[in-house]
Amino acid sequence: MFTSVKNKIEIEHMRESGRILSYILDHLSTRISEGMTTKDVADIAKNELKPTGGLPTFLGYYGFPDVICISINDEVVHGIPRRSKIIKNGDIVSLDFGVTFNGMITDSAISIIIGSPKDEKHAALVSNTRKSLMRGIAAVTDGVKVGDISSSVQKVLDNYKYGIVRELVGHGVGHNLHEEPDIPNYGFKNTGPMLKSGMTVAIEPMATLGSHDVIQDDDGWTIRTADGSMAAHFEHTVLVTNEGYEILTKNT
Ligand code: MG
Ligand code: MG
Repeated sequence: MFTSVKNKIEIEHMRESGRILSYILDHLSTRISEGMTTKDVADIAKNELKPTGGLPTFLGYYGFPDVICISINDEVVHGIPRRSKIIKNGDIVSLDFGVTFNGMITDSAISIIIGSPKDEKHAALVSNTRKSLMRGIAAVTDGVKVGDISSSVQKVLDNYKYGIVRELVGHGVGHNLHEEPDIPNYGFKNTGPMLKSGMTVAIEPMATLGSHDVIQDDDGWTIRTADGSMAAHFEHTVLVTNEGYEILTKNT
């Protein structure tokens, strides 16, 4: 289903969903530290979400067993929080979270480095992947074609010769976590479906320090780089407006 033009009430519910989501991601980025397990982090997210009126969109989605995806280092996305997984100094930790409020969904992700980076390249990967997201968002306006967003993201990532993950892409979002159209992180200007004011999309570049190839773990979820290279992931849910765009997940 192609993502619909949302009415005022639906947009207000998505704004609230985004406010809750961003508050929790920002909170996690201050709480997360060396020695915690990824399950500890997920439990904080779960407990912070409880009193907000928001629901954890990912819990039970195709059977996903937790409220948040936490992926470390060569894991790109969809990592399952585990008590056995201890966060270490220098790790790149990617947090991907979704919140449903009054039936409306937002989706956002951040990558953070714990303590000090093991390599300057890791810090650059994180900041440049975020930069590619912001460039993609800057292309959004009424009448934009998906390829305009994709090519804007790709231009930044290509400049640093990063691997651009191809199997996973951005997407429409709102009534469902994943709606059409797909929003790849590579592509050509002036191609693909057109987005209209009132539509809502999740843009989410995933970049690696090596090749773009990814593999799935035996757990059926975790996606990691095939060559073991480090990965970063950033995502915002964005409302298309007549003037340009509004970011609904305002986490930093
Ligand atoms: Mg996400
Ligand atoms: Mg997404």
